[in-house]
Amino acid sequence: MSRVRARASTRVRTSAFDRAKTEYHKRYKLLAPYVPELIAMKAGLRSAIQMTLPMEQSFKQKLGMLREFCIKVGFFLDHYEINSENKILISGKNLKDIDWEDKNLEYQMGELCAYPECCIEKFVTHKEWTHPLINNVRDLLTKSESFSFVMNPFLRTSPFHLYKHFPCGLDCEKSILFTKELLEVIKQENPGLHGDIVRFNQAPALFLDICGIGIMFLGEIKDGRLTYSNLYYDYDPSSIFQLSSVNHTSDKKLFSDVIEAGASADELILDDKRLTFQAAGRKVKSIASPKRLSWRVVDFR
Ligand SMILES: [Zn+2]
Repeated sequence: MSRVRARASTRVRTSAFDRAKTEYHKRYKLLAPYVPELIAMKAGLRSAIQMTLPMEQSFKQKLGMLREFCIKVGFFLDHYEINSENKILISGKNLKDIDWEDKNLEYQMGELCAYPECCIEKFVTHKEWTHPLINNVRDLLTKSESFSFVMNPFLRTSPFHLYKHFPCGLDCEKSILFTKELLEVIKQENPGLHGDIVRFNQAPALFLDICGIGIMFLGEIKDGRLTYSNLYYDYDPSSIFQLSSVNHTSDKKLFSDVIEAGASADELILDDKRLTFQAAGRKVKSIASPKRLSWRVVDFR
């Protein structure tokens, strides 16, 4: 392994974001990505959260852990086995029975969780997303006009993401109202989490159009240059790559090239067609954008 590669991977692995994420996962286990939604439920801003867990040996133990948690905090838990998967619903009040055969199941679930009506409407009519977690991000970035950090879509599987529904737009008024209200509640209840949410979401993001992943930079953009101290991203590209409907096999390598160059640099010069990384003012690497991918930088404020 070359010296650059070793240094690069060490730096990515030990980012403040990864450390904080690991800490929450140790404490909350599989509920970690749902911490903001659980706080929302406690405050009456959401009525239920839904989880899908695979059929596997460890499921019984996971279910036991979830039941124990719900008893402790006074939530209700419903478990169903549907299409060889486990559906878990955690709610603040006893829910009516769900009709899993319902043709409008997604609509029903959205209403049950109290997601904004406009977002449910859009979600149920977008059947072309092979996987909404990653395939609607391009759409969101193209069609939205404002980019508030409370709607940052890139930290979805972390405890620092404020919403679990798929918004109709990053500028959806109802979604923004929800995330801002929730952030206010979190500020009162858990100032540490509030600080992490603001810090990790309110940063410039580089979107490579690969697996819906946004690479976040702790830093700032000035005169077309992004100077930063650290970079981080939420999804593991190798585990979600096969879910992407837009990426080629070579995109996996392209992604790791960008991460490697980015991790050994402290500045990114922005250009539509290529990325140029510099360290202490000297060029580290320049990477050209393939035509099929629409790269862009979004400054979440
Ligand atoms: Zn909406």
